[in-house]
Amino acid sequence: MQAIGQAVWVLGIVAWYVIRYPFERRARRVRVVNDQRSLTDKIGLASALFGMSVFPVIYLLTGFPKFADYPAKAWAIVLGALVFGLALWVFRRSHKELGRNWSISLEIREEHNLVSGGPYALVRHPMYTSFFLMAVGQALLLSNWVVGLVGLVGFAVLFFLRVDKEEHMMLEVFGPQYQAYMERTKRIIPYVY
Ligand code: SAH
Repeated sequence: MQAIGQAVWVLGIVAWYVIRYPFERRARRVRVVNDQRSLTDKIGLASALFGMSVFPVIYLLTGFPKFADYPAKAWAIVLGALVFGLALWVFRRSHKELGRNWSISLEIREEHNLVSGGPYALVRHPMYTSFFLMAVGQALLLSNWVVGLVGLVGFAVLFFLRVDKEEHMMLEVFGPQYQAYMERTKRIIPYVY
């Protein structure tokens, strides 16, 4: 049972990369006009990367930390697969909508457009919504308390270090247009937060 959850997680991560790769390639060709990548943001990125891939991979390869293992349950794997699948769908939809405006960090690109359609009509940060869903999926699929927690905390660090700065940057660039957009949307959970 435990191995099934792990296999689903690995498949999910592979699918994640298949969705992201073309955007990483394209991002290299679109010029950046306003670069707000900071040390804080790099720490956040490293924290998310550690919690959502490095640490779980170490766990899969070595079994560490074994003391935190608990018996895998079928319902948790089914739910985990559904949540991870939903995360990938939101992830893909937001990449498509953001298109050439996408960046791994905080940057404004040449001819940057304010995107407010598709998933961006509901929340300002659907891609971050998808990361939280992925972290919940990870917690459900890998039956280990530490691995589950590290993923959620790892992404939360990136999110809370970044979100105010990102909205500030968008306000600086798009002014009243982003202000109005903020007034009609929530951050990551539609109608809630
Ligand atoms: N926070 C968004 C986007 C993440 S990608 C989300 O979770 O979906 C990060 C880059 O997206 C930032 O560098 C910023 O330039 C850009 N960005 C964020 N919101 C945007 C929007 N509504 N329209 C266009 N670009 C946006």
